[in-house]
Amino acid sequence: MPVPLFDPGTPLRPLRGEIDAAIARVLDSERFVLGPEVSAFEDEFADHLGVQHAVGVANGTEAITIALRALGVGPGDEVVVPSFSFWASAEAIPPLGATPVFCDVDPATFCVTVDGVKAAVTSRTKAIVAVHLFGNVAPVRQLEEELGLPVVEDSAQSAGSLGPEGRPGSLGSIATFSFYPSKNLGAFGDGGAITTGDGALAERVRQLRFHGSRDKVSYQDVGYNSRLDELQAAILRVQLPHLDAWADHRRAAASWYDDALAGGRAAAAGVVTPTATDGARPAWHLYVIRHPDPDALQQRLQARGIESRGYYRRPIDAQPAIASGGWGRTVPLPGTDVAAAEHLAIPISAAITRDQVDEVCAAIHELA
Ligand SMILES: *Cc1c(COP(=O)(O)O)cnc(C)c1O
Repeated sequence: MPVPLFDPGTPLRPLRGEIDAAIARVLDSERFVLGPEVSAFEDEFADHLGVQHAVGVANGTEAITIALRALGVGPGDEVVVPSFSFWASAEAIPPLGATPVFCDVDPATFCVTVDGVKAAVTSRTKAIVAVHLFGNVAPVRQLEEELGLPVVEDSAQSAGSLGPEGRPGSLGSIATFSFYPSKNLGAFGDGGAITTGDGALAERVRQLRFHGSRDKVSYQDVGYNSRLDELQAAILRVQLPHLDAWADHRRAAASWYDDALAGGRAAAAGVVTPTATDGARPAWHLYVIRHPDPDALQQRLQARGIESRGYYRRPIDAQPAIASGGWGRTVPLPGTDVAAAEHLAIPISAAITRDQVDEVCAAIHELA
């Protein structure tokens, strides 16, 4: 039985009628940018997260740039960001004239730690980008409390996750989401959001996403054209009420994997299952194991029709664009190197079946 790495299509199939109706509603309204669907989605998404404000933007990458800009990050400032993440977490920093400074992750959780961030902080550090990687929940509250610096939560992979102090997106000064189609909450194109409990920051973000203007008459900032459109917002509104059930399914699938792969034969072969951070109930956007030779394991699984992938084999600090920007590693990143060398994402989705998980586990037991 072939098992795909992810399956965004199956959970949407029962919603097709509602999605078609939402699309028709937007076409009939003839309002396509920053209209009632975006406002309603912003309110509903903020409610879901338990945060005061949500602002729709064009994608999850610009969301980070705009969030940092709203915090006052500019030329000469440093922003601490994990090197083990999707490239965009760091790519969002240099457009502000700021310098990305890379910190380590814990290879057990794939998230930043307070000590890891602290090691990378200097007198020029203006903000921290903490990534809730793979849906796990980074220790955002502790970072802000212990380091006294504002945190941008990169929550692109953590829609549906729960932390001990609330949901990702409600934990730090400001947070960003991506609604790229493959994320836990995916649009039918690009989309993103910025969330915050701070009214002044939200106001600044609203202005920045629309050319630095609130009224199309007076332009206060050189801003961005970074808007969520009505069609995407209407489609996201249909999906949002199902996000928690989808996340529950992901958590159930993760527990099936944990039960089969933690300890015993797989562990003896070097398989390490992911660890949730303290008190977190991750929505596991990706279920990522570690193995001493992940690329060989991937090839053996592929021969059985089971997809798997190493997403961030080369850490961000080792990417060519980072070297050519004159940036790079300023502190040792041993956890990053372990995570990068050993990680392998195996199939998970809101629709994966117990049989599929059992098939993947049997193959890993045999092939790892
Ligand atoms: C997807 C993703 C982004 C970027 O989101 P886009 O909407 O594709 O721009 C940023 N950070 C992380 C961790 C992501 O997974």
